[in-house]
Amino acid sequence: MKVLKFGGTSVGSVENMAHVKDIINDGVPKIVVLSAMSGTTNTLVSIAQTIASGKTAAAIDRINELEGHYLKTVDALLHNSVLNDQTKIYVQERFKGLKDLCTQMYSKDVENTILAQGELLSTYMFNNYLNQEGISSTLLPALDFMRIDTANEPDLPVIKSAFENEFKNVEPATIYITQGFICLNHENKISNLQRGGSDYTATIIGAVIQAEEVQIWTDIDGMHNNDPRCVEGTHPIANLSFDEAAELAYFGAKILHPQTVLPVRADAIPVRLKNTMDPSAYGTLISDTTSENGVKAIAAKDGITAIKIKSGRMLQAHGFLKRVFEIFEVYETSIDMITTSEVAVSLTIDDTKNLDKILAELEKFATIEVDQNQSIVCLVGHAIVNHNETYRLFQILRDVKIRMISYGGSNNNISLLINTTDKVGTLQKLNDYVFALAAV
Ligand code: ASP
Ligand code: MG
Repeated sequence: MKVLKFGGTSVGSVENMAHVKDIINDGVPKIVVLSAMSGTTNTLVSIAQTIASGKTAAAIDRINELEGHYLKTVDALLHNSVLNDQTKIYVQERFKGLKDLCTQMYSKDVENTILAQGELLSTYMFNNYLNQEGISSTLLPALDFMRIDTANEPDLPVIKSAFENEFKNVEPATIYITQGFICLNHENKISNLQRGGSDYTATIIGAVIQAEEVQIWTDIDGMHNNDPRCVEGTHPIANLSFDEAAELAYFGAKILHPQTVLPVRADAIPVRLKNTMDPSAYGTLISDTTSENGVKAIAAKDGITAIKIKSGRMLQAHGFLKRVFEIFEVYETSIDMITTSEVAVSLTIDDTKNLDKILAELEKFATIEVDQNQSIVCLVGHAIVNHNETYRLFQILRDVKIRMISYGGSNNNISLLINTTDKVGTLQKLNDYVFALAAV
């Protein structure tokens, strides 16, 4: 069986839902994972923030506005009066729940419950739409099987047995629809797999059922060789290995949730990226086959903070890095890039929640410099570190101020740290130097 995930744009309008219906309606049994309609999760985040800041009346206004939008969508989607009524009742229930949450003590659990509504709404509406169109489909509620553990990681053994149980007990259908993103945590409270987490839901289910393939359907024709939002003339990459895709997803290619390939990599279950708006386009196939060497793609991740830690005592002293890393570990902050010299170490983080506390600890034994608004530009390709054309990327040093460079950490990745203001120019230049030459 295949698992097909459709993102927010794919279910973002009645017209696009009809495209999704056409794509999945081939009579072959499948599991379909849906995101919230595009824009909904962002709106829910801002509603949650409004509630958190005590502006209840403003929050209720926004909830009513969103409810109006959903009721209109139901009318446009469902002309069958029984299904229309049933769906409107469901929509009204969800929004009543949201309004009730406005008056509760605000907490992380309240926030997570608010954020979960988008996927509950989109799947309910879409399932009824398929039923209206005479397609055999049923809902598999994600909250009945998707679990994260105390470390907020998917609890695969629990998910597997709960999923199998759920699957046995629902009414058999050709299409099984479930919510992406949402789950329960170890306390059985509603939680989620982080923003963009529907991709992760799809590969977790893919691993649990040992799917033949997982397909991620978005509004772009696969993973591009450079960021199409800021560079002209990018093109989709036909084939990527799991390692290459993992590096790209982690370092900025927004098309995939960073953890997407982890659950399926060990079993080599292929992940195919496809475009709902252009289903015949090949897209990108992520699998365990590695193709040609050399730079395959460039991605950039913004919002990076660089920390330079300088200490006279570092000179020929062992245990210095351990001391530094322990501080980051205590404050649960992961380090992305790291470079060292004999007297200093520079590293980057993207989560600055505990930055002040980290700096206070570091300042006890070192001099610190912090640079904010940095971007990591990451070049990915099988064995690029050994490839004889890779030197061309250093032409970039003529034109751009590079704050850090990481080469050889893995054979498939070279990362540069630059000011975010230089990002677009750097991506364009790398495109010109690296891909233009590769094409000669
Ligand atoms: N709806 C969630 C988000 O916007 C999850 C997803 O779309 O993948 O982040
Ligand atoms: Mg996404």
